[in-house]
Amino acid sequence: KPSIVWFRDDLRATDNPALRAAAEDGAAVALYVLDEESPGIRPLGGASRWWLHHSLLALREDLAALGVPLLLRRGRAAEIVRETATAMGSGSLYWNRRYGEAERTLDAGIKAWARESGMHSESFQASLLHEPWAVTTKQGGPFKVFTPFWRTVSGLDFRDPLEAPEPGRGFSGRLPESEELDTWGLLPRNPDWSAGLAESWQPGSAQAHELLDDFVQHGLADYSVNRDRPDLPGSSRLSPFLRWGQLSPFEVRHAQQGRRREPGDGAAVFASELGWREFCWHQYFHHPDLATANLRPGFDHYPWAWPGGQGAGPLGEVTEAADLLRAWQEGRTGFPMVDAGQRQLWHTGWMHNRVRMVSASLLVKNLGIHWQVGEQWFWDTLVDADPASNPANWQWVAGSGADASPFFRIFNPETQAAKFDPDGRYVGRWIPELSTADYPEPVVDLKASRREALDAYGSLPR
Ligand code: FAD
Repeated sequence: KPSIVWFRDDLRATDNPALRAAAEDGAAVALYVLDEESPGIRPLGGASRWWLHHSLLALREDLAALGVPLLLRRGRAAEIVRETATAMGSGSLYWNRRYGEAERTLDAGIKAWARESGMHSESFQASLLHEPWAVTTKQGGPFKVFTPFWRTVSGLDFRDPLEAPEPGRGFSGRLPESEELDTWGLLPRNPDWSAGLAESWQPGSAQAHELLDDFVQHGLADYSVNRDRPDLPGSSRLSPFLRWGQLSPFEVRHAQQGRRREPGDGAAVFASELGWREFCWHQYFHHPDLATANLRPGFDHYPWAWPGGQGAGPLGEVTEAADLLRAWQEGRTGFPMVDAGQRQLWHTGWMHNRVRMVSASLLVKNLGIHWQVGEQWFWDTLVDADPASNPANWQWVAGSGADASPFFRIFNPETQAAKFDPDGRYVGRWIPELSTADYPEPVVDLKASRREALDAYGSLPR
């Protein structure tokens, strides 16, 4: 009987335990479902939809080389998986686990259905080195602070990555229905804003492995210093590939461990950044409302200027906040590092980590705009938009999160630029009009807005 391997956030052929299990059974068929209907599943942002389109094309090729056809379907995943398994007379169903609450509920329902139908179903650990429930404090609860979390997980073992399965004999029966990818409308049209994304990325495992090899050879040794420099190619740029599972964290750690004896502490710092990724998922698993609720409830009373809440002023003030938001989104705040970052984001779907922190801090603390508004903008525009890392990092910057940056740490975009882009190369690359009269004056007084933010914070209930 043929097996089904259901692909989700694991769009790769290597280190894919579900694919291997299906292939070992004999004839395997792969299924991807674009689910925009099941309750609680967060709809993908625009840049993510672009990434997904190209990733599915790449995955189809990678799987074809292994003799595994890829079916594409859109709709409620539970119904489609059932329908496909029934139409094929499948004996087994395999997938790699997801950790969002809505996704887990959906998967549990399918597992129960498979059991009742006498079908074998099995799920695997593939996208996190340590599953969120496997890591607990001494008291048995979730971690709230990164350092003890990292102390605990960095001492734990994890498996080696798996090879892709050998090309199999292929599925010889009649394939069930599959849709044309082009009919899904994942690519932007009217206007098509994706040219900069296409210049910057080739979604798929091939580029992921190239970037990984290059980074391990050339970037890792100096990573601890260069990672903070947006003017240098100092970080790995693996985030979208990890987000979509075109590369697994097991593959990344394995490649990196071969280089453990490099001088400097690049490898250790890099491992701990991957640890942050795991910590974000740990938080999201324990707080499924991470993108919509302050982890520190005192922040529910913060007088945001936008969107209107307790602190909303008269109409004029609200309109002004909307203008400020647009200036931030479009890279016209008059703070070069922030504007360069926002333009880099719009053009390439990615922004350097240091600049993400500076830009998010300006939005939340100087412009007084709710972190959720920024989180949603990033969700729509990042190719690595991640349901755990994005809200966790926004809450970290805002001060409302677990182990958040202390509120008084308000990044000054000017001193940050002087320190991390000392020759102005990064801002120069993204803001050609920087030294002309066309470049706007700062939209906010840093000192006064900082004071206001600290006062607002001081008034929150503890
Ligand atoms: P590297 O420095 O090479 O790090 C290697 C990998 O470690 C990254 O690819 C990523 O998977 C992980 N990582 C590094 N830093 C973090 C971090 N702070 N939190 C979680 N994982 C991390 N990262 C996302 O993957 N998706 C997001 O949606 C996202 N949103 C963010 C929003 C804000 C406001 C901020 C401040 C940070 C956000 N980050 C997010 C974290 C970080 O900025 C990116 O992971 C990083 O810039 C990716 O570049 P890189 O692959 O070159 O990273």
